[in-house]
Amino acid sequence: MASLYEDAVALREELVTLRRELHGIPEIGLDLPRTQERVLAALDGLGLEVSTGSGLSSVTAVLRGGAAGPVVLLRGDMDGLPVTEQSGVEFRSRHDGAMHACGHDLHTAGLVGAARLLSARAADLAGDVVFMFQPGEEGFDGAGHMIAEGVLAAAGRPADFAYGLHVFSSRFPRGVFLSRRGPLMAASGVLAVRVVGAGGHGSAPHRALDPVAAACEMVTALQTMVTRRFDVFDPVVVTVGVFHAGTRRNIIPDDAAFEATVRTYTAGTQRTVGEYAVRLCQDIASAHGLRAEASFTQEYPVTVNHGAEHEFVAATVRDVFGAERFQELADPLTGSEDFSRVLERVPGAYVFLGATTAGDPETAPTNHSPRATFDDTLLPDAATLLAELALRRLTPAGT
Ligand SMILES: [Zn+2]
Ligand SMILES: [Zn+2]
Repeated sequence: MASLYEDAVALREELVTLRRELHGIPEIGLDLPRTQERVLAALDGLGLEVSTGSGLSSVTAVLRGGAAGPVVLLRGDMDGLPVTEQSGVEFRSRHDGAMHACGHDLHTAGLVGAARLLSARAADLAGDVVFMFQPGEEGFDGAGHMIAEGVLAAAGRPADFAYGLHVFSSRFPRGVFLSRRGPLMAASGVLAVRVVGAGGHGSAPHRALDPVAAACEMVTALQTMVTRRFDVFDPVVVTVGVFHAGTRRNIIPDDAAFEATVRTYTAGTQRTVGEYAVRLCQDIASAHGLRAEASFTQEYPVTVNHGAEHEFVAATVRDVFGAERFQELADPLTGSEDFSRVLERVPGAYVFLGATTAGDPETAPTNHSPRATFDDTLLPDAATLLAELALRRLTPAGT
């Protein structure tokens, strides 16, 4: 029998076509009807047990192996971003204001490829594979919704292993898989603050309670909090990305509001950073005679690779593609990812794939940029790795 990779290379044109079709019709959030339709069509005839989500347009497909054994879950996210594409590719987005700027179209096509490769080998598998096609990764907690709807037990018993991958348009060399044991990506949270003062005339601030000055002090004090209250070896990032106040220069507004994204790498720090930040803002407000309504909401947890699964992924890449195709990442990324919710419950690992189309990945447009481009000739590699991980986990010892 031909190797998985040889079979995947034979599928290249089909996978590239599917990816480019998906690229033209990006959809955002939890409801991706056209994407779902394409995925269902692509899985048709593969002998999978296919079900769709009720609260979101997810697709869960189960492949039954020829013998009993563990369950391997493979995941691909499917959503685009509210970005207007300026990449210049000929198959660019036909939906105004939406773009596959994070490469999730490649994840979807890659997972379809893995399903094709594995369904051709179903009889040889000792165990089952769950293919998790997930909407709403970009801030909608699609993984959380799919878990609530039962994806981890889609095969009739809990998944034993879980793997996923993410492509990058910049930063990493093309064709190289990268990962690390332990924390791989940050936890994310939202700090939302409304400073309530009392509006008045800009010429007479002493007769008003100025929320702008207090809110500005909070923005800078948050950076002091990061350096004074947290261990430098347990990193915290706080970035205020929204700040709204006022209408005219000579009017002191009633209130000012801002929002920050907060990134951390340990569960304990994610909790304390929220507590400290809320208290800091409330106390600064009260020091100036104002009031702050502050809240901290956790979004995604830290994405943590299980040590043995990380080693398994690294060894598989080296074995299938050659040692030069795998790199250990020294540091985690500050981005966050809802596959973290799967890895909180199932041993597994997440891996990155450099997919830049530029000569120098350092200067290429990054994921989420309207100019980001991804090399889809790597789709057979992505499909092969996912399928190979499942195949190896479901091959009985001694065969
Ligand atoms: Zn993204
Ligand atoms: Zn992404």
